[in-house]
Amino acid sequence: MSVNLSENLNKVLSSIPEKVKLVAVSKTKPIENIEVLYETGQRIFGENRVEELVEKHESLPKDIEWHMIGHLQSKKTKKIAPFISLIHSIDSFKLLVEINKEAKKNERIISCLLQFHIAKEKAKYGFSETEGLEIIESEEFKKLENVSIAGVMGMATFTKDEEVVRKEFKTLKRISEKLLVISPDSKTVSMGMSGDYSIAIEEGSSMVRVGSTIFGSRN
Ligand SMILES: *Cc1c(COP(=O)(O)O)cnc(C)c1O
Repeated sequence: MSVNLSENLNKVLSSIPEKVKLVAVSKTKPIENIEVLYETGQRIFGENRVEELVEKHESLPKDIEWHMIGHLQSKKTKKIAPFISLIHSIDSFKLLVEINKEAKKNERIISCLLQFHIAKEKAKYGFSETEGLEIIESEEFKKLENVSIAGVMGMATFTKDEEVVRKEFKTLKRISEKLLVISPDSKTVSMGMSGDYSIAIEEGSSMVRVGSTIFGSRN
């Protein structure tokens, strides 16, 4: 089992360019699995539930960079504010205000990505292009001194049709370029999961979030 995990990680790492960051998505997977990958050298892990994230942060080495990749409810922000490295899933201005407040209490600046809705599926969270860019240009946003917008995140439609996926990633990359004009530090493009990360990298991803290809399928 553990041999496989390290092998899986190394396979993924060897299939992505060095400049693309790998977030190992460990949601639902036990601490022991994360420890194996930590020993292999992986330091960035992604989770989508606050309770699980807090528990894993408490039990594991403190030089792990934890990323929140799932929908975040404002009221749960305070639990992760002391330690979270990057929140990929900003989908409302209200959430940014709350993160700013909790970051200030912790004397931190929290890095965040704006999540854009690029897929056909209704269920996926995220801003439309205009909504997201309007927030960054607003006076209210400029008052938030304890959040930093590091870039964008998006999820493509879950489909075998590569052209649909590629088109959606192109859309996110184009939004990212518009954002860069108003916010030059917002360089990160978080796109690509187990099924589509190769396409995402071809379309300009700088950060992939890979779970099942490393850890095996989830129940
Ligand atoms: C679960 C999840 C992933 C990883 O999915 P895999 O298909 O297992 O690689 C990536 N991003 C988000 C937002 C997720 O919720």
